Amino acid sequence: MRTQIYKIENTTEDLAKIREAADIIQSGGLVAFPTETVYGLGADALQPEASKRIYAAKGRPSDNPLIVHISKFEDLIYIAREVPKEAEQLAKAFWPGPLTMIVNKNEKVPYETTGGMDTVAVRMPSHPVALELIRQSGCLIAAPSANTSGRPSPTLAEHVAEDMSGRIPMILDGGEVGIGIESTIIDLTEEIPMILRPGYITEEMLAEVIGQVKMDPGIVASDSTQKPKAPGMKYRHYAPKASLILVDGEQKAVMDKINALTDEMQFQGKKVGIIGTDETIASYHGEIVLSMGAREDEDGIARHLYRILREFDEAEVDVIYSESFATPRIGQAIMNRLLKAAGHQVLVV
Ligand code: AMP
Ligand code: MG
Repeated sequence: MRTQIYKIENTTEDLAKIREAADIIQSGGLVAFPTETVYGLGADALQPEASKRIYAAKGRPSDNPLIVHISKFEDLIYIAREVPKEAEQLAKAFWPGPLTMIVNKNEKVPYETTGGMDTVAVRMPSHPVALELIRQSGCLIAAPSANTSGRPSPTLAEHVAEDMSGRIPMILDGGEVGIGIESTIIDLTEEIPMILRPGYITEEMLAEVIGQVKMDPGIVASDSTQKPKAPGMKYRHYAPKASLILVDGEQKAVMDKINALTDEMQFQGKKVGIIGTDETIASYHGEIVLSMGAREDEDGIARHLYRILREFDEAEVDVIYSESFATPRIGQAIMNRLLKAAGHQVLVV
């Protein structure tokens, strides 16, 4: 299959291209498109055969449910068994935006879309291309991240092409995404709403709107003994070819430790990769030293994370040492992704 890649500069001027993509979705096919979090791989959420194609293209385990993307609140009412009052409050505060809500599903949503679950994950994205594609298709669009299973989520159309060329008919290229890590997921079917995946919308922001919120113990556990409630969170999303080790502590101590470990590895003839920041990269001795950006720029760190992980995939290093990024606001979301990539290997100095 040839994959058509359309650059979208402006949803009005490029409407004909989005219309073409919408036709593919309507007829049960797949289109990759930009959202504000990461690129998504979309199909009609209410056609079982269309959802199945997503799993096939990604090589995704069939028990890992998809997020349904909508363009208006009425679409949530249309597929939910009931709409909790928190859903209305959260939608008012954060939709369109990087928040996914889990509600009980009704019979319109096929089990192929929900991985066999009686609940459904729903999000209204804010990216203009995503919204226009949903509107033009007249469908609700199921869309996981547009990477092959096990690779970092795509933050550029080029990443999607690396993974999906030849497997899907179309990619809409909207440039680099704004946020760079996947949406926050909150489960509203629990007595007390529970965060199943941390993201750009933080626990504090959610609590401000709906009061009490708790965090799934399975995602804050320092090891993998507790099973997370979101099926996808149990998978080691990205297992780099090289082993990735996080070094945590005061900046100077972290730098000294990483350099000492690097010298040791290089002495053994190993190729070392290092993840640092603009402030620190000049002081490292690794073969490949990449910066997540300025340490105070949390948004930048989140946006660069997956691109950097992909770069190390190309570079064929033997080991990667990374600084820790438990930054004040979205640090929990960033560290959740990094810890998973590192298989929870952390050195505290
Ligand atoms: P992705 O879109 O690839 O970032 O993955 C979607 C995430 O949402 C996965 O971690 C899923 O396990 C999670 N998810 C989707 N639907 C549900 C659901 N009904 N209940 C719990 N988690 C869900
Ligand atoms: Mg994903």
